[in-house]
Amino acid sequence: MKLSKYYMPTLREVPSDAEIASHQLLLRAGMIRKSATGIYTYLPLGYRVIKKIEAIVREEMDRAGSMEILMSALQPKEIWEQSGRWAVYGPEMFKLKDRNQREFCLGPTAEEYFTSLVKDEVRSYKQLPLNIYQIQTKYRDEKRPRFGLNRAREFSMKDAYSFDTDAQSMVEAYMVMYKAYERIFDRLGLDYRIVLGDSGAMGGSSSHEFIALSETGEGVICFTKDGKIAYTDEKAPVHYQGPQEEEAKDLEKVPTPGASTIEEVAKFLNLDPKRCAKAVDLLIDGEACIVFIPGDRELNLTKLAAYTQVPEHAIEKMDDQAILACGSYPGFTGPMDLKDTRVILDQSLTKINNLVVGGNQEGYHYINACYGRDFDGEIAPDLLMVQEGDLAEDGQELLFRRGIEVGNIFQLGTKYSTALNATYLDENGKEQYFYMGSYGVGITRSVTAIVEQNHDDAGIIWPIHLAPYQVIVTIVQSKDQDQVALGEKIYQDLQDKGLDVLLDDRNERPGVKFNDRDLIGIPLRITVGKKASQGIVEYSTRKDMVNQDLSVDQAMEEVL
Ligand code: ATP
Ligand code: MG
Ligand code: MG
Ligand code: MG
Repeated sequence: MKLSKYYMPTLREVPSDAEIASHQLLLRAGMIRKSATGIYTYLPLGYRVIKKIEAIVREEMDRAGSMEILMSALQPKEIWEQSGRWAVYGPEMFKLKDRNQREFCLGPTAEEYFTSLVKDEVRSYKQLPLNIYQIQTKYRDEKRPRFGLNRAREFSMKDAYSFDTDAQSMVEAYMVMYKAYERIFDRLGLDYRIVLGDSGAMGGSSSHEFIALSETGEGVICFTKDGKIAYTDEKAPVHYQGPQEEEAKDLEKVPTPGASTIEEVAKFLNLDPKRCAKAVDLLIDGEACIVFIPGDRELNLTKLAAYTQVPEHAIEKMDDQAILACGSYPGFTGPMDLKDTRVILDQSLTKINNLVVGGNQEGYHYINACYGRDFDGEIAPDLLMVQEGDLAEDGQELLFRRGIEVGNIFQLGTKYSTALNATYLDENGKEQYFYMGSYGVGITRSVTAIVEQNHDDAGIIWPIHLAPYQVIVTIVQSKDQDQVALGEKIYQDLQDKGLDVLLDDRNERPGVKFNDRDLIGIPLRITVGKKASQGIVEYSTRKDMVNQDLSVDQAMEEVL
């Protein structure tokens, strides 16, 4: 393609609302444009990169035996009501009505939708296992859309769903996807780690997240120095801590008949138990003391002992008490009185608002309790299991890094098949629920992760197999006939050899052309300048940016 005719609106200035490099560079390089908050248009250069990523994802999914389909982005409300997620997804879901007042959503994900498809089509165990995927636009009305394509409200996701007869084959299907994801992210050239994930809104038993390392990432992960996975044990305290802050809502008293343990109350309130705080009772100098920590983390007794100045053996750990947070602490009139009790909170709990509180009795609880507003306590630092500098169980040093979640795989069990009553007939002609898995890759978010990991002050440095074009031929003086003729010839020859080539034949100052070239990050560059009449050109790579005088033939050889 000739840049004189190309739609590549580069910007010299850094757009004021773009905070991180990838957002700035993708805008400046004329690859994307914002059309509304969290909604983007992919321009020619950017869209070519997206299609290359899609191609890699398709190849690896197909190789792993998954089959591509395409379901609508518009999904009926009924299936989301059956799973209970119409309410759970809350304001993040874009909801709409048709002319007959029938309700729909713009799919944020598609567990229900795929389950409802398979439910009607797959009747026998002989048709299993089955793995199907789509690359489809997803919609999430994110509370804080930001960082461009990174946290958008409309984005492209590859989502796959596996259907199996039992738990064991579900795990096998999951492992096949796990391997496919390793191949995908290896091929995207990302420096990433795999960590045990939070099952979050998907529910289910086990999940892994694929996190591309980046200082601009919104979450923190913990892993050992030499391994990709720090722990494989589900109980290991290695979790991706995504953004957790929430807006404080009004405190509300809710009846919770029959529920007293964390699990029961969480289930009653349709909450992930991990999101509830848990309490540990201990006695310090004869004084009752309750320590609150996040429900998904383990208390580090050594740290608690150091903080409270009591010997470790004197701490009686009684976790899994049915106390979700500071029940009946001053200001509360819950079923348990903590007035004379010393309350210690892990500092991480001060950031998570909207806690559930209440005593270890069935009856009622308060929801939306916020630290500082509704309850108080002594904030202790670092009561949790791991932190930078700690050692893993095998003695390896633990590292904490920020990262971008580019992929997430889930074992779902029968959660969705039960909810949607999706069954098949087993060998004995008996109805059984499908065992499912779901597997997501953020296609457009991956673009941002790749740019975060591949740029310098001048612009993007695309890995060659992901670059929108592999080679750029720059005619330095577009009024010089020798340069134009040679530039055109090289451009033509390289295209004939099957390369994706850009020709900068614009009537612009050389400085503009060179800046744009650095900015858009085309990996291989041939510059046709003063020595064109002698058949000499300059060759450089975007990465090194070191020019080398070469004959045309030599330059072609470098590129091919
Ligand atoms: P996050 O923790 O960043 O909010 P998530 O855990 O909610 O992401 P999943 O439901 O696991 O996301 O979706 C699968 C993948 O889709 C994610 O791993 C991510 O790569 C991508 N993704 C999720 N939300 C967005 C978004 N708002 N914009 C772009 N990509 C997204
Ligand atoms: Mg999310
Ligand atoms: Mg997440
Ligand atoms: Mg996720």
